[in-house]
Amino acid sequence: MKFNFKYIIVGAGSAGCVLANKLSENPNNSVCLIEAGPRDNGLQIKIPLAASSLFKSKKYGWCDETVPQAKLFNRTINSPRGKTLGGSSSINGMLYIRGQHQDYDAWLDPKLGWSFNSLLPYFIALENNQDHVDQYHGNFGKLWVETFKGSLPTSRLFLNACRTYGLEENPDFNGPQQEGFGI
Ligand SMILES: Cc1cc2nc3c(=O)[nH]c(=O)nc-3n(C[C@H](O)[C@H](O)[C@H](O)COP(=O)(O)OP(=O)(O)OC[C@H]3O[C@@H](n4cnc5c(N)ncnc54)[C@H](O)[C@@H]3O)c2cc1C
Repeated sequence: MKFNFKYIIVGAGSAGCVLANKLSENPNNSVCLIEAGPRDNGLQIKIPLAASSLFKSKKYGWCDETVPQAKLFNRTINSPRGKTLGGSSSINGMLYIRGQHQDYDAWLDPKLGWSFNSLLPYFIALENNQDHVDQYHGNFGKLWVETFKGSLPTSRLFLNACRTYGLEENPDFNGPQQEGFGI
């Protein structure tokens, strides 16, 4: 059998899947997406945060390890990367936190035009936020974002401790500023 494709994308992780989805919206494009790992139908992938049990999985991960670290009594450190449809996003923490405004501004290059304000429209276009409707958020994109509703007793104790300590509460880490504490 012989196939011809206009585009071949290697790696069906976060970037590869978005790219394949975007390119295949055009019916004139033929797209081949190649992934080294298996399908993402493992139970631990479907249950939020259960994916931490896959950090050393040979089936769904690459099992990367650092070289022995002299300052850690020669221990090696596991560095998880996903190997499945969705790539690392299939085993990640599912937290939606963008970079710091100031970091993007520090990258500002007059030719590329990268800065927080020039990237913001792209973040907004991607996002489908269920809780915030303002100039920092999108509500019509493909990336579903919602505030975590169930909190554990230990999380609530931690938040109370932050309050008692006088730290500032931040209800939105993707809003005007990232400093502060929150769920
Ligand atoms: C444990 C963990 C927790 C994280 N938590 C968060 C979080 O809470 N919030 C957040 O925003 N980000 C988080 N991240 C980061 C986020 O998941 C990654 O930045 C993002 O998924 C990277 O996307 P990518 O497309 O660059 O790579 P990946 O998603 O890693 O995709 C690369 C894909 O390419 C495949 N591949 C590699 N080589 C080949 C080959 N030769 N042939 C075929 N396929 C190949 C891999 O198997 C993989 O599927 C976390 C990451 C990890 C590992």
